[in-house]
Amino acid sequence: MNSPRPLFPEWPKLSKRLRAARCRILLSDFDGTLVAIRRLPGAVRFSKATRRLLEQIRDAGSVVGVISGRALEDVERRVAVSGIWYVGSHGYQLHDPRGRLISLATATERRRVQRAVRQLRSRLAPLPGIRLDIKGASVAVHYRTASPTVAAKAREVVRQVLEQDSELRLLAGKKVWELLPGELVDKWTAIRRLLEEEKADTDRFVVYLGDDTTDELVFRRMRQGISVVVGRRRNTAARYAVDSMGEVRHFLRLWLQVVR
Ligand SMILES: [Mg+2]
Repeated sequence: MNSPRPLFPEWPKLSKRLRAARCRILLSDFDGTLVAIRRLPGAVRFSKATRRLLEQIRDAGSVVGVISGRALEDVERRVAVSGIWYVGSHGYQLHDPRGRLISLATATERRRVQRAVRQLRSRLAPLPGIRLDIKGASVAVHYRTASPTVAAKAREVVRQVLEQDSELRLLAGKKVWELLPGELVDKWTAIRRLLEEEKADTDRFVVYLGDDTTDELVFRRMRQGISVVVGRRRNTAARYAVDSMGEVRHFLRLWLQVVR
């Protein structure tokens, strides 16, 4: 894996491509990219300034999408910008800019997750600091507020639940284990669908920003686009890097200057 290049020194060159493109698509992860990660996922606050930037970029005609592991309604409620794409549950659910729901999970997959939820719920209930986040097509076990001993016990429960159903797969993120119902859908699957729906042809400029392991799937498979990792310089397939969420906001401002 090559290490990513700092984004801003490349911007004069990239911005020319952005200006020339017929279709401009700005996609971003949410937690750790557009908002700071908090001990409790419910405690994050999306800043008014970033919301305003996304609205201005949308108004200037760019396609905007927020791609999250959170439940769809959750990320949508927190970002609260209309007329943009939302992807939730790691790609299983999408809302297009008109609010039309696209679900990439089958009924069988949803039942599979419901079974896992029942098992996790009863067996994790006695463990303090472990929190379950039940989404339409996946379930997340958060251990950020648990002691290391409790986290180890929870890990064993997760392992056993996974063992009982070979179709379930595990996605490990920052202080969270996510159980998903199959191999077929992830953030990249959803983005591919989004690009199809937008009829984004080859004359497009696509950026994807993200900070976590689940974003690496997108970085690896996004051949033509501009992949940007936030805060890391190692073990990443992203082509470019920025250091912080402050720099993400700076990037949004640069984008806006070019497109409006
Ligand atoms: Mg993230």
